[in-house]
Formats: sequence, structure tokens, C-alpha cells
Amino acid sequence: MESKTKVLVTGAGGFIGSHLCTYLKEKGYWVRGVDLKYPEFAESDADEFEILDLRRWDACLQATRGVEEVYALAADMGGMGFISAHHAQILYNNSLINLHTLEAARVNNVKRYLYTSSACIYPEHLQEETNVKPLKEEDAYPAYPQDAYGWEKLVSERLCMHYREDYGIETRTVRFHNIFGEKGTWEGGREKAPAAMCRKVAMAKLTGDHEIEIWGDGEQTRSFCYIDDCVEGLFRLMRSDFHEPLNLGQDRMVTINQLADIVAEIAGISLEKKHIDGPQGVRGRNSDNDKLREVLGWEPEISLEDGLSTTYKWIESEVQKQYGKSEQSLSNAGMG
Ligand code: NAD
Repeated sequence: MESKTKVLVTGAGGFIGSHLCTYLKEKGYWVRGVDLKYPEFAESDADEFEILDLRRWDACLQATRGVEEVYALAADMGGMGFISAHHAQILYNNSLINLHTLEAARVNNVKRYLYTSSACIYPEHLQEETNVKPLKEEDAYPAYPQDAYGWEKLVSERLCMHYREDYGIETRTVRFHNIFGEKGTWEGGREKAPAAMCRKVAMAKLTGDHEIEIWGDGEQTRSFCYIDDCVEGLFRLMRSDFHEPLNLGQDRMVTINQLADIVAEIAGISLEKKHIDGPQGVRGRNSDNDKLREVLGWEPEISLEDGLSTTYKWIESEVQKQYGKSEQSLSNAGMG
């Protein structure tokens, strides 16, 4: 019976993995979560949660025992600031995680395996203008990703393809385009643009200093997809027959300046943007969702404004908890 199917979610202590455990439990699955750490912001909903380092072969064998399906989300990752400054570490850690997890899944007779790749695999030269053409799945080749993070994702995509062809394991590959939402990292250097923006605006509201820093001129463009749409899409892809890489994201492109304005409006404050040097990634990026619609008969439905509104409220409450107590804690954090 499908409701008794046992699944493994790796990276279950992370942002998307923790939401996915909740979603799969609601669908009636038995869920094992594995990560280096427990989820930071709420208890995991997984039936079983094991702390394991998936760079290790023995840990991967343990993680994949007795499950029929694997959602492989574990990765050493972060926003542009992190990805652009840790190439060797990311390539080494993520290669080990993905080589060992997939091979262990094969040894343990896992039937279906969903790998989470990224829009970062697309060639840099297709993303040099703010008003870019949305990226189609076939644009991945000839390959020229910007960072080691993208190169590793591309190789792991190919590993999944070969394991399906050579060993018959039903692999699925998703390419996420900027997923955001509550209960994700919002400070410390690994946070991504929407969370960082919500934090900056919440701090501006808290301190009364409405000047916020934006990396570059803020005209770089992206599309942003809310977490509830992301886990819905992941589940639909796992259940589908489609085994080639598939984009999963929104196809509404906004500039980082516009993102700041939307968050400021949600917070009910006006902003002064200070543009500073900083890692910006590619100049423009958007998802072409033609294949997503065709394959899944579905596409992300939650608007950027609705998703950001929920996310902002959560991050504002986290900022309040952390920095709202006294002037002292603000100046300790270097933000006073
Ligand atoms: P996240 O950093 O919140 O979660 C990744 C989790 O993997 C973390 O909890 C981390 O502790 C865990 N991990 C790292 N090394 C590990 C190891 N050696 N053993 C076990 N666990 C380990 O990131 P996320 O946003 O939830 O992303 C999930 C997946 O989706 C990742 O593979 C990521 O590359 C991919 N992705 C995410 C986005 C996005 O916008 N969030 C975009 C593209 C791709």
C-alpha cells in the first residue's frame, strides 16, 4: 500500500528537507530523515531522524537501508556569498555525498531516487543580461556553469542518468530556481537573497535605520518560488514517469531592487538602498516552465507577494526574538 511506503529524505535538517518531511508525512508515508544536524527552527516530522555524515560510505548504507524511495537533498550549500567563496569545499563534499548516496541506494535496492539539482548548472554566457531568455532544460549543454557548485550538480545529474540506464534505478532530477520560505537560514552567511532581504528589512524596522545594503546595482534579475510549491512539485516529479532533468521554479522575473521594494511594502516601511560591492552571481536568470507544465500538468501557483508575506512575518519574529530585547543585543550584533 502506498501509504506504508518507506522513504528517506537526506538533508532533512535543512530548509527544503524539513518541509518535505512534513509534506510526505501528511501524504501518509513513513519517513526517515538524515542530516548532519536537526532542523534549526522546529522539530522534524520524520518518523525517524538519524544524524549521519553522508560523505561517508558506511553512513550512506545505513541511511538507505529498508527504504523504497530516496529524496536526495543533502548538500553543502548557501547563497551567492557562500557558493562563490568555497569552491573546493563544495566540490569535495557534495561529490562524496552524491556518489555514496546513489551507490548505497543501488546496493540497498532503492526503487526511486530523486536528485535535487539547481539552475546553477546553466551556462554563464546565457545569463549575462538582466532581461534574459528563460532557461530551457536543453540549454544546459554545451556546459559552462559559473561555479564549482554548478559543475558538481551537473556531474551528479549525469550520475543519476547513468545509474538509471545501467542499473535500472528510477532516477528523477529537479533543477530548482531559488526556493524561499519560512524556517530557512536567514543569517550567518549561508542565507539566500529573499531571506537576507527579509532580515535586512526587519532590522531596518526594528532599529529605525532604513538604509539597507544591496550587493551590486540591484538590477540583477531572478525568479523566486515559494516552498509549498516546491515540495508539491518534488512529489509530483517523483510520482511521474519523467526521468530527464526538469526545472522547478517560478517564471516571473524580478530585480533584486524590486524584491527589496516588495518586502518593504509588506513590512510597511520605506527604504533607502545603498548599493555596495558584493557577489551577485549571474546577471539575470529565469525558468522556462514549458516542460514543467507539459510533464506535470501543473506549475507553481503561489505568488511572490503571498510567499514573501508569510516568509517576512516569520523572519521578523525571528529577528525580534534575537535582537529585539535590548539596545545591548543590537550593538553586540554590530547592528546598533
Ligand atoms: P540547506 O542547506 O538548508 O539543506 C541542506 C542540508 O544538507 C543541510 O541541513 C545540511 O546540514 C545537510 N548536509 C550537508 N552536508 C551533509 C553531509 N555531509 N551529510 C548529511 N547532511 C549534510 O539547503 P536547501 O535550500 O534545503 O537545499 C536542499 C537541496 O536543494 C540542496 O541539494 C541544494 O543544493 C538544492 N537547491 C536548493 C536551492 C534553493 O533555492 N534553496 C536552489 C537550488 C538547489
